[in-house]
Amino acid sequence: MKIREILKETTPHISFEVFPPKTDAAYESVLNATDKIAALHPSYISVTYGAGGGTSANTVNIAAHIRDDLGVESLAHLTCVSSTREHVHKVIGELKEKGIENILALRGDIPQESDFPLPNQYRYACELIEEIKGAGDFCIGAACYPEGHVESENRKEDVLHLKEKVDRGVDFLTTQMFFDNSILYNFLYRIREAGVTVPVLPGIMPVTNKKQMKRICDMSGTVLPQRFLDVLDRFGDDPAAMQQAGIAYATDQIIDLFANGINHVHVYSMNKPEVAAAIMNNLSAIVKH
Ligand code: FAD
Repeated sequence: MKIREILKETTPHISFEVFPPKTDAAYESVLNATDKIAALHPSYISVTYGAGGGTSANTVNIAAHIRDDLGVESLAHLTCVSSTREHVHKVIGELKEKGIENILALRGDIPQESDFPLPNQYRYACELIEEIKGAGDFCIGAACYPEGHVESENRKEDVLHLKEKVDRGVDFLTTQMFFDNSILYNFLYRIREAGVTVPVLPGIMPVTNKKQMKRICDMSGTVLPQRFLDVLDRFGDDPAAMQQAGIAYATDQIIDLFANGINHVHVYSMNKPEVAAAIMNNLSAIVKH
């Protein structure tokens, strides 16, 4: 089923994300985590695409497993980075062959000290979107940034690029994580004014690890509000307490989003079924699918 059809539902829905293993040895444990996350009946599960390029086959295979063996809709990520146009073309063909209908089209994180883009690579997500659009009847998602993309001169320019990207055939958007919902509401107002009308899924990250969080936020430019910093300060050095507090913080954000009329929230569950299960448990009377 195409995700754009799922997004027509007006009751609260949750989707989750998994990332493929970096080595073949870890494949079974990722599958195991994916199976447990699928058993929570999310509206779909997305599978990331490693910027290192080594995991592209795993992305396709895990997305097919989710859909065919676990009975949950899947969304395969695909990036311009680390792939030639020919490789991108080949992966789209594999997705089509395996019956995967949903692709999240991204530029990808540029690895350090890499020459990007090479002449045989797509430079921006919008170019990849055009390729996917021409390759078949896919439902296409793309990324957006409530606080502006880290490389953008300013938010206005970023929204203009977002509009261009959507105009090339995007069906829905998923946001970068954020920890203050007012940033999302402000962003939605600005993009709607700019004519971006497709559904937007807020991306929520339940934080369970203080160190990892600080690194991700430095890279992405995500602002950490004082309320969240207080949680990190108080519980960050106690893993069990941090996990419980991070899940509570994410749940609080999700309930506020639903209360303000959002119907679909994407949770960056990071191969952690226990975290995904705790979120679903907290929302058991709210999310009914
Ligand atoms: P683009 O939309 O191409 O934008 C990149 C930058 O270029 C922005 O600053 C934009 O304003 C600018 N820009 C866009 N179009 C133009 C144009 N025509 N002219 C000039 N400037 C332009 N990374 C991975 O490697 N694998 C993943 O699986 C993955 N999944 C993600 C999922 C989500 C929901 C999100 C939010 C991010 C994900 N990322 C992933 C990270 C993402 O690839 C990076 O944030 C990357 O830096 C930008 O990707 P993009 O698709 O938004 O790029």
